[in-house]
Amino acid sequence: MSFELPALKYAHDALEPHIDKRTMEIHHGKHHAGYTSKLNAAIEGTDLDGKSIEDILKNLDMSNGAVRNNGGGYYNHRLFWEVMSPNGGGTPSGELADAINEAYGSYDAFKEAFSNAAKTQFGSGWAWLCVHPGGKVEVCSTPNQDNPMMPGVTCGGTPILGLDVWEHAYYLNYQNRRPDYVEAFFNVIDWDQVASYYSSNK
Ligand code: MN
Repeated sequence: MSFELPALKYAHDALEPHIDKRTMEIHHGKHHAGYTSKLNAAIEGTDLDGKSIEDILKNLDMSNGAVRNNGGGYYNHRLFWEVMSPNGGGTPSGELADAINEAYGSYDAFKEAFSNAAKTQFGSGWAWLCVHPGGKVEVCSTPNQDNPMMPGVTCGGTPILGLDVWEHAYYLNYQNRRPDYVEAFFNVIDWDQVASYYSSNK
């Protein structure tokens, strides 16, 4: 059994002007496809073959660079595509909004914390909103393709929202202006999807 590149639920140009078509084509069709095929090559014939990606990441031997980088890359991008929508933006509602307010005081304070995590992650990496068992949410960031589910990664919990801050995610449209890309991301966040992940992982 091998992992497959998931199809996007929207067209490559659907997130414009916030995320441009060419970036989406390369990011999904080349970068994510590359992580997927390299993950499959790394687990083929090993005892990881046939396990879910969540099982692989939660029980990862962090010295296994091929699975760490490509398993993280496979999972992280799959989540990233799912939490964006051309109908996104706005603010969360319901129990997710309550959890965000409890942890950060307000949506605006959460947005600032998440944006700062994305903007200050040095070099390549991800910003996350995670949920812990019991429902508490937490913002954090990880380098490279690391993921909060991996052993020993400081932030922990299950990621329910992720933002890719590798240069390949924004450089064509934003060049070095990562803060502009981070701000634009909030226009495409699919909060209904994030709320669904919150409810099923709290
Ligand atoms: Mn990426």
